[in-house]
Amino acid sequence: MSQVKRIRLALIFLLIFGVNSYAGQEKMIKNLDKLKTLKIEFRSNIEILLGWADERFPYNITIACSYRSPEEQNRLYLKGTSTTTLRGGQSKHQKDLAVDIYFIKDKKIVPYNEDYLKLGEKAESLGLTWGGRWKKPFDPGHFEM
Ligand SMILES: [Zn+2]
Repeated sequence: MSQVKRIRLALIFLLIFGVNSYAGQEKMIKNLDKLKTLKIEFRSNIEILLGWADERFPYNITIACSYRSPEEQNRLYLKGTSTTTLRGGQSKHQKDLAVDIYFIKDKKIVPYNEDYLKLGEKAESLGLTWGGRWKKPFDPGHFEM
């Protein structure tokens, strides 16, 4: 094979396989194992949602399924203020019917943007409830059934 042909092949390879990556890194969904504990109907909807998001958005995605301090930090970060009010009553997180999904770019959580809105609308089309519609707290990473 000639040098020119080899370079041309390399360029074609880049065009085809470079589309789904950014900054030289393949996209990935982190903590997929956390879906295991979810109720099966909810889980399959979340898997559809994640597959849909993975095809569209230039982010890594991370999943958190239970209330923990990292989630609290994430929520505060997304909201951009420290005056959050916790929702009263039992959380769907304790019933395996809620999940928190965050976009990650450059190893940081992506602040709320229109892609979270698109994700929320897709979730709603699957019959899920999206925390981005709530006021207290505004919780755009939260999805529940
Ligand atoms: Zn949540």
